[in-house]
Amino acid sequence: MEQKKPKRPRGKARLIPNTCIACGARCESACPVTAIVMDDAGAPIIDLAKCIGCVKCVKVCPASALEMFFTPEEQKILDELAAQAAGEAAPAEEVDPEEAQLAAMLKQYRGVWVFVEQTEGQAAGVSWELLGKGAELAGTLDVELCAVVIGHAVAHLAEEAFAYGAEKVYLLDHPVYQCYRTEPYLRAICHLTETYKPEVILMGATGLGRDLAGAVATRLATGLTADCTGLAIDDQRNLMQTRPAFGGNIMATILCDRNRPQMATVRPHVMPTPPRLAGRAGEIIRDDFAPNEDDLTVKVLDVLLDAKHKESIDIAAAEIIVAGGRGLMNKENFAIVRELADEIGGVVGASRSAVDAGWMSQDRQVGQTGKTVRPKIYIACGISGAIQHLVGMQDSDIVIAINRDKDAPIFEVATYGIVGDLFKIVPALTRKIREIKQQRGIPLANGAEG
Ligand SMILES: Cc1cc2nc3c(=O)[nH]c(=O)nc-3n(C[C@H](O)[C@H](O)[C@H](O)COP(=O)(O)OP(=O)(O)OC[C@H]3O[C@@H](n4cnc5c(N)ncnc54)[C@H](O)[C@@H]3O)c2cc1C
Repeated sequence: MEQKKPKRPRGKARLIPNTCIACGARCESACPVTAIVMDDAGAPIIDLAKCIGCVKCVKVCPASALEMFFTPEEQKILDELAAQAAGEAAPAEEVDPEEAQLAAMLKQYRGVWVFVEQTEGQAAGVSWELLGKGAELAGTLDVELCAVVIGHAVAHLAEEAFAYGAEKVYLLDHPVYQCYRTEPYLRAICHLTETYKPEVILMGATGLGRDLAGAVATRLATGLTADCTGLAIDDQRNLMQTRPAFGGNIMATILCDRNRPQMATVRPHVMPTPPRLAGRAGEIIRDDFAPNEDDLTVKVLDVLLDAKHKESIDIAAAEIIVAGGRGLMNKENFAIVRELADEIGGVVGASRSAVDAGWMSQDRQVGQTGKTVRPKIYIACGISGAIQHLVGMQDSDIVIAINRDKDAPIFEVATYGIVGDLFKIVPALTRKIREIKQQRGIPLANGAEG
């Protein structure tokens, strides 16, 4: 009689001491049986009675802080099984035809693509940021990093894409693509995707990118994760798309494991711009696909520039931001924040509370429903540091937090923290900076008196 093989033990997950980086509870959201809760420091507490050894938390951990462990009895079974497997020829596994079909389909799709967004031949910076992340993903997948350039008289952008790391550029250059319209761009991307079959397509989460990505994903019947804050590859070649969920209270990692291409958008300034290497060469694939103008229902008659838009400041591009929150108490008090910002060549930002109260305009809002910023210096005045605010500014090079509550969460991401009354500290900082500028003969900001 054939001896029955012992069942392979699944083990339990455990935390390796001092390795958790409090990434935002990715393990908790990956656990299918709610066996993980987070402690106050953002590290997982694993309920071993509930853990089913599915390994999902271990796979999703960006710091490899979780591992599987086995009891001595389980380890013995594993050793026996390994010894048996080494001695036996592997039994022919039964193949599920549906799974086989899926595997064959997935195999046809290769390559990481970045859509290069442009207006009048000027590329959006987010496209280059995405090439930086795309290079990382392509490296893990061992595939080419490609850029997709669509427009009219945009061949120079192919050279730019090479400079930022693309190895290949798909170029569609035709008058029909002169001004962005959803339909021709949608058809162009679908044509390219159906012809060349990329496994990943990344676009900027800008107005244009959101419009196009949603339309393409719908037409191709594939998945799209908007506003990703993290992208990585799992051991099945799936794109792990991490983004805030449930009002920003958890970070969810989303997979699109049964459809291709996998599509994600990322907001400007979430990923760093890779170094630009002028003169780097690559392959250009010119594709002459162009929809017939007569078939398009939307016509561009004129382009009118938005005067208000011209005046507004793009805080996402600022190198120094002084941001105010509810702690400022009213609109007028934002003057002290503005004075400090002017003196150090920065711009004023705000928390959502300040924007909702009507103290600042929406284009100044930093955070999940505002802008993502990555300045060299971010000074937070009277901002508590709610997670929805932090996701928009935590990648700033230096964060200076001013808050009278020493336990405010903003101090957790601060490089320097000042506990105290902002109405004393902010004007004192401005005074000190003016003093130093005067000593060094540097002119003060417009209208300021020493
Ligand atoms: C779906 C969703 C999306 C959201 N999106 C965003 C977003 O994009 N951006 C965003 O900012 N928020 C967002 N929020 C709101 C967020 O949850 C917080 O409510 C908000 O960030 C709080 O703003 P605040 O820090 O200015 O106010 P509060 O949380 O009220 O903090 C005020 C801080 O000021 C300090 N303070 C008071 N007086 C002084 C003083 N004199 N001196 C020094 N410190 C003082 C207090 O100690 C306190 O820490 C979102 C919420 C949800 C549910």
